[in-house]
Amino acid sequence: MTTVGVVGAGAMGAGIAQVALEAGWEVVLHDVDEDAIERARTRIRDGLGRRAARLELDADSIDDWVEGRLAALREAHVLDTLATEATLVVEAVLEDVELKRTVFRALDAEAPPDVILATNTSALPIGAIAEATTHGERVIGLHFFNPVPVMALVEVVPGSLTSPAVVKRATAVMLEWGKTPIRCADSPGFIVNRVHRPYTIEALRLLESGVAGVDAIDSAMRESGFPMGPFELMDLAGIDVNLAAARGVWSGLGHPAHLQPSPIQERLVADGRLGTKSGRGFYAYADGRRSAVEPEFASEPPAPLAPTDIRDRILATVAAEARRAADDGVASLDDIVTALRLGAAYPDDALARVRRA
Ligand code: NAD
Repeated sequence: MTTVGVVGAGAMGAGIAQVALEAGWEVVLHDVDEDAIERARTRIRDGLGRRAARLELDADSIDDWVEGRLAALREAHVLDTLATEATLVVEAVLEDVELKRTVFRALDAEAPPDVILATNTSALPIGAIAEATTHGERVIGLHFFNPVPVMALVEVVPGSLTSPAVVKRATAVMLEWGKTPIRCADSPGFIVNRVHRPYTIEALRLLESGVAGVDAIDSAMRESGFPMGPFELMDLAGIDVNLAAARGVWSGLGHPAHLQPSPIQERLVADGRLGTKSGRGFYAYADGRRSAVEPEFASEPPAPLAPTDIRDRILATVAAEARRAADDGVASLDDIVTALRLGAAYPDDALARVRRA
């Protein structure tokens, strides 16, 4: 049985462990927090159960399948054990470059040189993490999307030192795990976090300039086939999380005006209005359920933009960013389109517009 080591048993680490178990791999999971391992085990058991239910097995076979997979999940109390037992290690600890460098330094010291060391970072340069190791050729980004068992996309991000053989092996593993690997350059926001950025930034610009309100913009994008409008999305992900990602991409790309975070986001975060998790964002929430648009954003302008104009404005900015990213060599336009479809649920019409960019 092939073994993967997973470092960090939070939302992403548990999801990565689950998909590896589903694919028949053995998983060795490590976290500094014992409770996180227990929570991950429960989450993985539930996830495997949901997966088994779709396999059309009878009730006894479902239990057998789940227990069989879970038997291949082990815990490593120390990082060293994991590094020596796995052929691939995926790191999913907190998004902090110094923490990730410390983890990679330790893994690099213990793991034989042919073990692939992957990071699930959303935004940190792969190069900055690889630099902490003596074998940068085996360090690569494998950027999974949340929730990992559901989202097919994995951005495969070689750093400047990563060997072609490691890219090939890591890509093959992602295929074996049922994922759709898309290769992209080690650049700010990779593909989705960069090209999908204007979805929220341009919505905020429309709001700032008073030509459309929160409700109208969200409705227009939902009617265009997106599962969620930009403001609902920010509330759900956390306005602070969205702002941090926006700042990262904006500064990483040299502060281009069109990607500058909005003062509205800045103000909401400064006020502790972070979206669903704080009970207030663009919408108000009671008991975790959305109640209404926050009074500050409730009034619609007297002559608002038509829904089709709202959609066109937002998609034009996404399309322009897709073109810039392709020109910058981040990925081909075809791969960018696939990444938006799988990583941000873009409907076909919207993808056709991006393709025409
Ligand atoms: P999380 O907070 O749910 O989990 C992080 C886990 O790492 C925690 O259980 C914590 O105890 C553990 N940890 C901290 N220091 C550690 C150490 N030194 N060794 C071992 N474990 C340690 O975070 P998450 O949402 O799972 O994110 C993990 C990584 O994945 C981050 O880099 C994040 O940017 C990236 N990511 C997150 C998402 C997302 O939507 N949540 C999507 C893609 C990528």
